Amino acid sequence: MRYLMKCPQCGRQYSMFYPRQLCDVCAGILEVTQSASVEMKGLRKDFWSYEPLLPEGEYKHYKLGNTTLLRAREQGLFLKLETENPTKSFKDRGSVVEIAKALEYGYDEVAVASTGNMAYSLAYYAKLGGIRATVFVSRNANWLKIRDIRDTRDAKIVKVDGDFTEAQRRAIRYSKRKEAFLAGDYAYRKEGQKTVVYEILAELGDVRNIFVPVGNATLFSASYKALVELRSLGLLKEFPRLIAVQSSKTDPVVVAFKERQKVRYQKPLTDAGAIAVGYPTYGDQAVEGIRATSGSAVAVTDEEMEVERSRFYYEYGLQIEMAGAASLAAYRRTKPAGKSVAVISGGNTLKP
Ligand SMILES: [Zn+2]
Repeated sequence: MRYLMKCPQCGRQYSMFYPRQLCDVCAGILEVTQSASVEMKGLRKDFWSYEPLLPEGEYKHYKLGNTTLLRAREQGLFLKLETENPTKSFKDRGSVVEIAKALEYGYDEVAVASTGNMAYSLAYYAKLGGIRATVFVSRNANWLKIRDIRDTRDAKIVKVDGDFTEAQRRAIRYSKRKEAFLAGDYAYRKEGQKTVVYEILAELGDVRNIFVPVGNATLFSASYKALVELRSLGLLKEFPRLIAVQSSKTDPVVVAFKERQKVRYQKPLTDAGAIAVGYPTYGDQAVEGIRATSGSAVAVTDEEMEVERSRFYYEYGLQIEMAGAASLAAYRRTKPAGKSVAVISGGNTLKP
């Protein structure tokens, strides 16, 4: 789709040729806004069939997405196995868009902050695209994941004293200094991650509840954006309920939703590394998505995630990480009526 980049903070607009993801005036995080109508007759379960709904660009059609929607043992529950993506998490959907854009704008390096999975994914697509990747990770991140990135993807790793939010600040500073493309939880990644919901709806038209694990809340806000766009295209009548899932040890979005306030920073204490984000970039947008879809927010304990993870391995023979099991734990707690999908976000099971 043809699009503009809009700053929600100061209102400034940029053309689709603006080569950055932050506003030049106020450093706000830009949003991709469709600027010309899109033709889409229906949804097929095929990642690249959604290209008209992605920001216009020169994409290489790598094989990704089209992940299995597995019928669970529980009546009415389906599991979206994002573990089947090339680097074992939903992050690939966003990375493929970001790297295409970085190359289009002529960059030779991308910089990103990550809790692990995103860095792994971005480094993978950077290598395919022939572009350097520099990754900022908290010293507390899962070190085995990080070692894997360094060893197999030729990425440069920078260890940061502090949490994910601090790593994000460092990545921003670095990208300015080195003129590297700032990748991460920004507009283009969000666009790619919309495809999870497209695929779910292509397969299950009448889904009632979608459980989405929330770290930085990009997948969640992308899911909401996907629903809004599909409705405006006439491809969706009623929104399914979006249910945000966090750990009870790191639950800023759950608290903001329940207490009707803006998202506030929490020190991330959960062992579920992929969702250990104390101040989610898209937290407030996630709360908006919950309300607009009559959804809800659920905090599950780290123990519940561990139980679901073991159960998942026992029942399906597949290894998933703690955050990957979060949506399943939330489903088990709430057992809502109607067809439900739990997004199994990642399968990188390496433990520190
Ligand atoms: Zn601005």
